[in-house]
Amino acid sequence: MPVTSHNLDVSFNKFSFSTFYYSEFPFRNPKQSVEFRQFPRINCAKKVKRTGKLRYPSEKKKLRQQKQTKTDASTRLEGVWRISRLAVSVQDDPGKDFWDVSEALLREIAKILEFPVASMLPPEAFTVVRKSFDARKLQKEPKFVYTVDVDVQKLLHIEPRTWEFISELEPKIGCIEFLHHASSSGDLMSIIRNDQKINETATSGEVVPSNDVAGSDKFSPTRKPRVVVVGSGPSGLFASLVLAEVGADVTLIERGEAVEQRGRDIGALIVRRLLQVESNFCFGEGGAGTWSDGKLVTRTGRNNSSVLSVLNTLVHFGAPRSILIDGKPHLGTDRLIPLLKNFRQYLQELGVNIRFGMRVDDLVVNGEHVGGVKISDSRGSFNSSFQKLECDAIVLAVGHSARDTYQMLLSHNVNVAQKDFAVGLRIEHPQQLINDIQYSGLANEVLSGRGKIPVADYQLAEYVNGTDMGILSNMEPVTRSCYSFCMCPGGQVVLTSTDPSELCINGMSFSRRSSRWANAALVATVSSKDFDTLSLNGPLAGVEFQRIFERKAAMMGGGNFVVPVQTVTDFLDNRLSVTSVPPSSYRLGVMPANLHELFPHHITEALQRAISMFDEELPGFISSSALLHGVETRTSSPVQITRRSDTWESTSLKGLYPVGEGAGYAGGIVSAAVDGMHAGFAVARNLGLYDGSMDSVLGKAQNVGFAKY
Ligand SMILES: Cc1cc2nc3c(=O)[nH]c(=O)nc-3n(C[C@H](O)[C@H](O)[C@H](O)COP(=O)(O)OP(=O)(O)OC[C@H]3O[C@@H](n4cnc5c(N)ncnc54)[C@H](O)[C@@H]3O)c2cc1C
Repeated sequence: MPVTSHNLDVSFNKFSFSTFYYSEFPFRNPKQSVEFRQFPRINCAKKVKRTGKLRYPSEKKKLRQQKQTKTDASTRLEGVWRISRLAVSVQDDPGKDFWDVSEALLREIAKILEFPVASMLPPEAFTVVRKSFDARKLQKEPKFVYTVDVDVQKLLHIEPRTWEFISELEPKIGCIEFLHHASSSGDLMSIIRNDQKINETATSGEVVPSNDVAGSDKFSPTRKPRVVVVGSGPSGLFASLVLAEVGADVTLIERGEAVEQRGRDIGALIVRRLLQVESNFCFGEGGAGTWSDGKLVTRTGRNNSSVLSVLNTLVHFGAPRSILIDGKPHLGTDRLIPLLKNFRQYLQELGVNIRFGMRVDDLVVNGEHVGGVKISDSRGSFNSSFQKLECDAIVLAVGHSARDTYQMLLSHNVNVAQKDFAVGLRIEHPQQLINDIQYSGLANEVLSGRGKIPVADYQLAEYVNGTDMGILSNMEPVTRSCYSFCMCPGGQVVLTSTDPSELCINGMSFSRRSSRWANAALVATVSSKDFDTLSLNGPLAGVEFQRIFERKAAMMGGGNFVVPVQTVTDFLDNRLSVTSVPPSSYRLGVMPANLHELFPHHITEALQRAISMFDEELPGFISSSALLHGVETRTSSPVQITRRSDTWESTSLKGLYPVGEGAGYAGGIVSAAVDGMHAGFAVARNLGLYDGSMDSVLGKAQNVGFAKY
């Protein structure tokens, strides 16, 4: 009787599970070799098999690893078996907030092990390493999908009768994998301290003399290298953490306020329309991602050692452990704020001097080397009474909205280049509509974030070919990537302007994602060709491009931070048919406007086509209750502050380390944190505080210039 479940094809050859369950349990004695041909055979779903050259690179890599892995009897009883694609139905699963091994999951594990009585498997021998909710339409029904590690020694110790089942387990690409040891990664602090211990042991208990490391001869034993970190976003915080841990004298300068005061400033903005230009949704402790959905997804990959160490560090500072398991982890503003307070306290205990409300206005440059910064009180008037801070290195982690800082860099001839980014609008639907589209009959299980299944999200991307662009804008027809990003299920649209004459928006949510709305950016990529059409050139052409549409949006909204909106149906028809629009989560008011006239025609057309394509993927996406908000311009940095790949210093100014999103090397909370962390090690290496041994633990740094989260 073949039974087909999600992606497991279970065939009970000649043998019925239930018969087996109630009959005497014929365990195999480890010492005896007993034939068990009647055991149910469980195979992974039959996929189209790729062989030879047709295999994906990831499959080839896995095959190579498997060949290298000795799976002889003794080895396979020592290490860890990783079982993936274990699917549990919504009905049987305890739900999205349960991260342990449930009875239903044990049943799935038992099928893979061919172990006849699931209830006899000890849950403590298994660890859930990944849990995702898979509601893709190609499935018969949505399922929770697990990856589980089997601790073989623990399993055999508690239930010795599993011996022969384990000894017969064979690796299977994508489903069963043998690992010599469970991959473990700690938080950054313990990784650094372990590394320091190893170094100390290697030198027979003596601390490595600092002049053993290149560059360390610059500093006397009594003088710590001084580093100024500019910006307390994820990249600045992680750079500060690394540098303070390895012994640098770190000063962290942040133009915005600490989260307590920043919260009050954001409150004043939402309630009284008072925009503090230095303390808002972009500027302040934690950077741009503090009042956000706190999505912790990244293109760098979840199993990447650097990403794991960042996530473990967030757990150390108070994030729930579930972010290490959840296929789509997110924190929400309410969890980010206490986490940042703990982060701050830890840095201060390490001796980091954190100065909120201070802005870096200028650099002190000595020949080819940077020698310090000029800072001023950002609560006072611009350029009022500079203070000079001397230092040996500057980590510039200023984010994508520090336009004055970009300008200042140009005045010192620091190499800054244009960078492609994306612009568009933010779309908002009723969350119930998205739940219905994604989950159909299961939508009622969402219960505003309190239910069994996650509040539904989406991620859409299409390439759109332009047709009439050549005629209209004197450009060659182009293919643009149009995509949704920064989707905030159960969230709200927020104002991310840093200047009252400009208007730009983004999205945030709380951990429960319980609001009635679902919003996401819908954007199209833009490049120097687009800037050229508006006669914008020079390194900051992209910044000017953003500014033009932010000002236009502010005017279309009529001022006072009122956001211009248009229903999706009207936007597609290039008209404004309604004077009353569906409700919006945006707190400062919305005004119906001709958003189809906001961007140049070729961008509008690309967005319109993409929306039609998205509706094919998510039928119902085009709806009269879907409201487009203008304007989404700060998707990623419009510039790159170029840096050397060996030293991580600016290509034009020694001692200056451009990092994170503002420098064009990251996009999103996690990738910015990873970039800051690697930059911290690079600075430490160049200052002689560290010997470079960490690369083997954290892997090589990867740059992500585009935001996709
Ligand atoms: C509303 C919103 C929601 C978002 N949601 C998500 C999400 O869910 N998931 C995700 O991955 N990403 C999200 N992002 C993007 C994410 O926040 C950024 O990618 C990330 O914060 C970039 O980190 P960073 O350290 O490079 O820069 P930032 O976080 O921008 O930090 C830069 C800091 O530098 C400070 N600064 C700037 N200039 C100066 C100066 N001259 N002197 C002193 N200080 C200065 C700023 O005040 C700021 O605090 C969101 C962004 C916004 C605005």
